[in-house]
Amino acid sequence: MKIILATHNADKRNEMMAALADLNIEILSLEDFPQVGEIIEDGHTLVENAKIKAKAVFDITGIPAISDDTGLLVDALDGAPGVYSARYAGEHATYSDNVNKLLDEMKDILAQNRGAQFQTSMVFLNNDTELMANGIVKGQITETPKGVGGFGYDPVFYIPEQEKTFAEMTIQEKNQISHRGIALRNLKGILHSYLNHPQIQENA
Ligand code: IMP
Repeated sequence: MKIILATHNADKRNEMMAALADLNIEILSLEDFPQVGEIIEDGHTLVENAKIKAKAVFDITGIPAISDDTGLLVDALDGAPGVYSARYAGEHATYSDNVNKLLDEMKDILAQNRGAQFQTSMVFLNNDTELMANGIVKGQITETPKGVGGFGYDPVFYIPEQEKTFAEMTIQEKNQISHRGIALRNLKGILHSYLNHPQIQENA
């Protein structure tokens, strides 16, 4: 069986490839399918956006697709940037534009009020089945970026238990505790049952 990762984001793809490496499945990437152009993510929730991406890719390629949609929800900002995390600082914002805007918005927020969480919705979709899993990780927004790994908001997302930001972790360390790692492990569990007993999931 083949599965295609429905993302143009190379950073996400690297993490997902690493987390799915032990599945006995050929994992393809959109790099091999230039006919899949930009996908408009106009859903209002992470799940809606994940479904939009998986469906668009499956419809064009005919290959079962896995997609992820992720948001950073900051307590002191009432859950912003949330589903708008990619374009927090504007339509064509870079990772560092978004991080700078976040740090600026939070410049007066005290350390004890800087809680946040990443949420990921992960969807597997083929012609007759849609499977869904979620992952959440809680942490704190630092006052300055730390670390050079990861991507997006990783340099300002601090995990107290590890005493590191995500950007100070290897991909493997991050996958072990991250929103995306958790969502993928949950999805892999459901996918495993589906691949072995498809009728159970279809009837569920
Ligand atoms: P998307 O809409 O799921 O592609 O992701 C929204 C935005 O959230 C991305 O552009 C990144 O800025 C950020 N993001 C997603 N996943 C992560 C992560 O694992 N670490 C840090 N930032 C992330």
